[in-house]
Amino acid sequence: MTFILKAVVILFIFAFVVYVLKAITRLSANVRKTAKELNKVRDQTPSRQPKSTEMVRCAACGAFVAPRDAVQVTSGGRGQMFCSYECLQTRAKTV
Ligand SMILES: [Zn+2]
Repeated sequence: MTFILKAVVILFIFAFVVYVLKAITRLSANVRKTAKELNKVRDQTPSRQPKSTEMVRCAACGAFVAPRDAVQVTSGGRGQMFCSYECLQTRAKTV
């Protein structure tokens, strides 16, 4: 008799554990989906407001320029951004 009771209890515990694991899996999948959607929204946002973020500063004259227009130079493991090749040359002369 006690053996059957033990078996039933173990079965219940097993079922509960499986249920909890399933719930966690479903929850994490939902979270991942939400994060993906958030990223999508974040990716779409800059196209609406192109000027608001991600400007880099010219190391020579201090002007702000968009990263795709900037001239990037890596020297001594440190990256430097310039607004134009003129600024890059100016900086190269002074250093
Ligand atoms: Zn500059």
